[in-house]
Amino acid sequence: MEQNGLLMVISGPSGTGKGTLVKHLLKRNNNIQLSVSATTRNPRPGEVDEVNYFFMTKNDFEKKLEHGEFLEHAEVYGNYYGTPKAFVEKQLKKGNNVLLEIDILGAMQIREKFKEAVFLFIIPPSLEELQRRIESRGTETPEQMSKRMNSSLEEIKELKKYDYVILNDEVEKATALIEAIINAELASVERS
Ligand code: 5GP
Repeated sequence: MEQNGLLMVISGPSGTGKGTLVKHLLKRNNNIQLSVSATTRNPRPGEVDEVNYFFMTKNDFEKKLEHGEFLEHAEVYGNYYGTPKAFVEKQLKKGNNVLLEIDILGAMQIREKFKEAVFLFIIPPSLEELQRRIESRGTETPEQMSKRMNSSLEEIKELKKYDYVILNDEVEKATALIEAIINAELASVERS
């Protein structure tokens, strides 16, 4: 039985340890290919072109966008980010599993195009604790929350748009959970 690879999308608020989790996952699973995104933001110290991102000018990005070279794209914190289409399509066709680490706007574009993709939302333990408190003691929501807590909450609301929520309290545990999800998805009758 020939089967396309599984497309997985990972998102989550900043500070969730998403990057570390993805690195760990890739190290342990050589059947997962990470898609390298294009971006117009400047490289941070230590970041390498074509490894961390395809760094490019806004002009170049817009040209590629016009030519339909991105599967999805979004503006995040004033910069453009996009997933190169050719790489993802080629890997999936070969039967490789592909991982996209993108924001929610991009994730929802992928949702429209790939009905069989799997969407994972990563949360840190402190946010989960926050969520638990808010749920169980709704009347006691503090009137004034810091900007960071506010935006984290906003992002947590988006979690319902995903298929799975991964609590990243321990990298090892969170990685094992993602691996279990991947295996279950690959074995799903709907994919056969
Ligand atoms: P950073 O600039 O910190 O590397 O990434 C900022 C945000 O952009 C993160 O939420 C990251 O997941 C998201 N991002 C990275 N690549 C892409 C992409 O190709 N598409 C979309 N939509 N978001 C991306």
